[in-house]
Amino acid sequence: MNTASFRKRLVMGNWKMHGGLEANAKLLADLRAGAGILADYCTLAVCTPFPYLAQARSQLENSAVSWGAQDVSAHEKGAYTGEVSASMLNDFACTWVLVGHSERRAMHAETDDLVAAKAKAALAAGLAPVVCVGETLDEQDAGRTLAVIQRQLEPVLALGSQAVSRLVVAYEPVWAIGTGRSATPAQAQDVHAAIRASLATVDAAQVRVLYGGSVKADNAASLFAMPDIDGALVGGASLVADEFLRIAAS
Ligand code: PEP
Repeated sequence: MNTASFRKRLVMGNWKMHGGLEANAKLLADLRAGAGILADYCTLAVCTPFPYLAQARSQLENSAVSWGAQDVSAHEKGAYTGEVSASMLNDFACTWVLVGHSERRAMHAETDDLVAAKAKAALAAGLAPVVCVGETLDEQDAGRTLAVIQRQLEPVLALGSQAVSRLVVAYEPVWAIGTGRSATPAQAQDVHAAIRASLATVDAAQVRVLYGGSVKADNAASLFAMPDIDGALVGGASLVADEFLRIAAS
């Protein structure tokens, strides 16, 4: 049996720290208008900066596009200035939240354990965490890709089968993010297959594994043709509605 058939494609935009009320209004309206015909075979989603979650909700409610945030606190509440809790994301009807994006790991010193704690907090609030993993160029050059991914996944897998089966994994090689240099489909497939094998150890082989790193309309189809690539996490190209919709339709 082809188990891939149970995994509906998920294409998710990561706006990073981009946007503004006016530009977002057009982007969200264009996505809403274009997403309907894709809905049977692709789930479309956007992860906006926190201040725009209310706008995403008001413009996307009852549409084929879901929304989420780019980070979440590991804590439920308290004296954590600047942090945003999972229950606050629920107040804006988020479906998704990214955890462990490489920019957070690198610029905010997020450890593998913290990323897993964030995933746990998100799950406890009913959100679906998208756990980002990926190696740096140095790690790839040293032949350590799979070891790094395994290390990053370990505390997440330790959350147990039930928890893991409700999340999404995004493989994003750091050297491919924002560089215009995507992994080749074969390169990505090798890592995705290894991630799926790890997920299988906790009975979660059906979890969707997205690829991220310079995905564009002209390389999406070849990536999506790989048996273990279930969709994409898209940065720069998600800020242009037509390009993002063309990726989803690839
Ligand atoms: C990302 O930020 O998650 C990402 C994949 O960015 P880009 O598509 O711009 O490489």
